[in-house]
Amino acid sequence: MSEAGRIRRLPRDVIEKIAAGEVIERPASVVKELVENALDAGATEIVVSIDRGADLRIAVADDGLGMVPDDARLAFERHATSKVGAQSDLDAVVTLGFRGEALAAIAAVSEAEIVSAPAHAGATRVRMRGGELVATEAAARARGTTVTVSNLFFNTPARRKFLKRDATEVRAIEREVIAHAFAAEGVGFTFIENGETRFRLTAQISVATRMDTLFGGGLGDELLAIGGEAGDASVSGFISPPRRSRGIADGIYLAVNGRPIESRALQRAILQGYEPLLASRRYPLAAVMLRIPFAQVDPNVHPTKREVRFVAEQDLFRLVRRSVARALNGAGLVPDFSAPIQALAQGGEPAPAERLPFARESGASWSSWNEPPARGAAPDSLRDADAARADATSALEVADGASGRAVLESLLAAPAILQAHRTYLVAESVEGLLLVDQHTAHERILFEEGLARIAAKSPARQPLLVPATLSLAPADARRLEEHADALAALGFDLRAIGPDTFLVEAVPMERRGEDIGRWIGEIVENLARDSSPQDRLVRAARSYACKTAVRAGDTLRPAEIRSLLTRLARAENPFACPHGRPVVARVRLRDIERLFGRR
Ligand code: ADP
Ligand code: MG
Repeated sequence: MSEAGRIRRLPRDVIEKIAAGEVIERPASVVKELVENALDAGATEIVVSIDRGADLRIAVADDGLGMVPDDARLAFERHATSKVGAQSDLDAVVTLGFRGEALAAIAAVSEAEIVSAPAHAGATRVRMRGGELVATEAAARARGTTVTVSNLFFNTPARRKFLKRDATEVRAIEREVIAHAFAAEGVGFTFIENGETRFRLTAQISVATRMDTLFGGGLGDELLAIGGEAGDASVSGFISPPRRSRGIADGIYLAVNGRPIESRALQRAILQGYEPLLASRRYPLAAVMLRIPFAQVDPNVHPTKREVRFVAEQDLFRLVRRSVARALNGAGLVPDFSAPIQALAQGGEPAPAERLPFARESGASWSSWNEPPARGAAPDSLRDADAARADATSALEVADGASGRAVLESLLAAPAILQAHRTYLVAESVEGLLLVDQHTAHERILFEEGLARIAAKSPARQPLLVPATLSLAPADARRLEEHADALAALGFDLRAIGPDTFLVEAVPMERRGEDIGRWIGEIVENLARDSSPQDRLVRAARSYACKTAVRAGDTLRPAEIRSLLTRLARAENPFACPHGRPVVARVRLRDIERLFGRR
């Protein structure tokens, strides 16, 4: 065989199928492109319907500008676009994917149909199959466009095989529509599945109400507004309080200039804004919208890919993180017990035990309030904290009115504070009763003090008269070495004297228990390997706090209780432990009165 004969031109339809594959990866990409076209056409109402029969059929209808017959025919051709004329336009818009490729790509790998009508003229129907024109005919329709796509990937079996289960694809489509509904306020979105309306958000509905409608559970009342500016960029949107967090990240929606995007960097910025109110691998609900000059979107990223990069990524990162942190700091995140008490007062069934705050954690339910909890039953593990928080979601209410600080002030002013079940501190307040979880409170204090000491590089050390030896499992020893700097900054003085053995010469001022080796071992176990330097400091402080704090079941003397509350009042964020569990909760007087029939 001659050298020259090896390179061949690919047939045109193959090229088109390959190009199509880059733009259209899955049914949700079809929805993305069609909805974006509808928005470009100035639609104010967009209806996305899908039908799950033997095949997934997708239709997107809009009330936008519509197309005259010639345009409707041209729309399916590659590089046919009404949006880019000159090179300067191209610079301005190319990052949002205006390249005249989407409809051609969709038509190349499906059976597609456009029915479109401009104002004051008849409608046209154009049908395509695998990139070939099947028919053009007159039709009837009010102004606007409906694009219907079925039999996706019928002629690219390899790609068709890669489609996930229908349910997964439908969820991705739904997320796509939701993302647009948050990004494009002022445009109505309806999502219909098999003829049933899944949601309908009219054009007038605000982003906050959209989130409330879609996520439910009374989210609307709890949402925190965020906002801020930096240079030419601005951010706006809404975030959930930490206790509405979930184990998956897909409740976080981002948009730039009215279009949904994915950005791992900005997602991280949101999570850092929550730090340290969220446990690791917990994610809030959020809709965060950025406005930035087009030129700041990195044009080198493939325009059809959702993952977007920014020229001034660091600035945007800080803007988002700061706005989120500010919103959370401004909110007194003190939960209260109104919901369960009201249920009791109304003579209804008490809320099921497992839905009460901390019920799983303490092993006690509302009705067993009088029985002591199992000693040491409050677990420190993250998983349990998550479970408790998930359960608490429906029963807790974020305090409104009185700021969280005022709540703490009244705690300090309380004439008497009772330690109940060797776990909770109970005090009278102007508004009713306050409950403090002694473990999470102490944990919070130690965490913040630890972070401050790390930042100021001023460890509070306590030399040991008799140095202790610490023998660790090899993996734990590596972990300790990796976090050595952070541990030293906290006040630990550790020296390696064997491969996995250390000499402990000093420990932080505040320590736990008699068995120093076991205590440090537990701290080390909690540290993660391969984390970033910043992450290591936070983790070391969190682990130290968690393993050093008084536990549920520890008896506290009155002086210790006072000292704990005084230090708590000084904390920067006294309302949640480093894992995100609540520290303070309140029972309102009016709810107690209702309970006893005084109201
Ligand atoms: P692009 O959006 O990059 O221009 P598309 O292939 O998505 O490329 O669309 C091609 C053209 O078809 C658009 O430029 C527009 O003129 C027209 N078009 C597509 N969808 C609609 C719609 N829903 N309403 C009006 N015109 C549309
Ligand atoms: Mg388009």
